[in-house]
Amino acid sequence: MKFNTKTIHGGQQHDPAYGSVMPPIYQTTTYAQSTPGGHKGYEYSRTHNPTRHALENAFASIENGNHGLAFGSGLAAVDAVLKLLQPGDEVVSTNDLYGGTYRLFTKIYEDFGIKFHFIGMDNSDRIESYITPDTKLIWAETPTNPMMNIIDIVSVSKIAKKHNVLLAVDNTFATPYLQRPLDLGADIVMHSATKYLGGHSDVVMGALVVKNRDLAERLYFIQNASGAICGPQDAFLVLRGIKTLHIRMQRHCENGKVVAEYLANHPKIENVYWPGFESHPKHDIAKSQMSDFGGMVSFTTKGNDYKEAIKIVENLKIFTLAESLGGVESLAGHPASMTHASIPKEEREKTGVVDSLIRLSVGIEDKDDLIADLKQAIG
Ligand SMILES: *Cc1c(COP(=O)(O)O)cnc(C)c1O
Repeated sequence: MKFNTKTIHGGQQHDPAYGSVMPPIYQTTTYAQSTPGGHKGYEYSRTHNPTRHALENAFASIENGNHGLAFGSGLAAVDAVLKLLQPGDEVVSTNDLYGGTYRLFTKIYEDFGIKFHFIGMDNSDRIESYITPDTKLIWAETPTNPMMNIIDIVSVSKIAKKHNVLLAVDNTFATPYLQRPLDLGADIVMHSATKYLGGHSDVVMGALVVKNRDLAERLYFIQNASGAICGPQDAFLVLRGIKTLHIRMQRHCENGKVVAEYLANHPKIENVYWPGFESHPKHDIAKSQMSDFGGMVSFTTKGNDYKEAIKIVENLKIFTLAESLGGVESLAGHPASMTHASIPKEEREKTGVVDSLIRLSVGIEDKDDLIADLKQAIG
């Protein structure tokens, strides 16, 4: 089955009870047993729920994995991966990553005795130099948030395999429409399904997908033991969202390109970060591991003035000033004061998150309206 068919049919079957084409929302906590243990595969909805199960199968299908898991948020999914580790273990992580993931690593898991190395992953030798016998996990995000750096998944996966370390890739920005990390050698794919997979800014959810059965068993155990699952109504909504992922992503990419090119030619704009530019330092890798370049675009203004950046995001009318990304509507964010405020100024500036940086999640509205909005806001 090709990708555009998998988004609609992958891992799905019509409901056996009445043939309903969409899985019913099984809004139930428990399932009748005829005799102790005599059930139809479902006992309690923390452990299993048919609607969630349908969604987990869809996750696995679109990421070319064998096993999918749905969580109550993207961070709950990251948390489940970290629970594979033991005190004393080490993690090599990209230094340009989602602020909430950084907070989870440093404010929760460091206290449990896990050591993190935050490094630029643009260089294989550098990655390898941080690997010790205690390293158990490499955490990568590509394209990175919000600087649109590109990590070469194939080359990182070779290092991970050589040292017998798990490689997890946060694929939230790219989605499997653009990039499928398991095919490139990753062990675990993670999503904030809150973003493009859900796609309509109405559900908070997380996902993991793996190929390996033993790894899946360990993660299912953690999912059930820790309990950070999503509800059946949310599972239904994300399943519905996935059915249009391919056509939404196609438009996000088209509009993202138009917006990136407009900004690049604007006299008041200093830098535009978008992997589709030939001048992007990792454009070739982006081209080889992604099928297109997505709808996330970041930029800075000439003079790097905090107040001017705030004025631009306040002036926008169609782009809504809001956290989050990946919905059908265009959003704008100011990472230094919003998504990345939890990262110390010194740390965030090292990775390029300066005071005038604005991040756009380009939606699927008419491109002419988006450009007109940017024009009036930037001036
Ligand atoms: C939003 C986001 C997360 C966290 O997901 P939640 O659903 O908000 O918990 C993790 N990684 C990336 C890249 C994100 O954009």
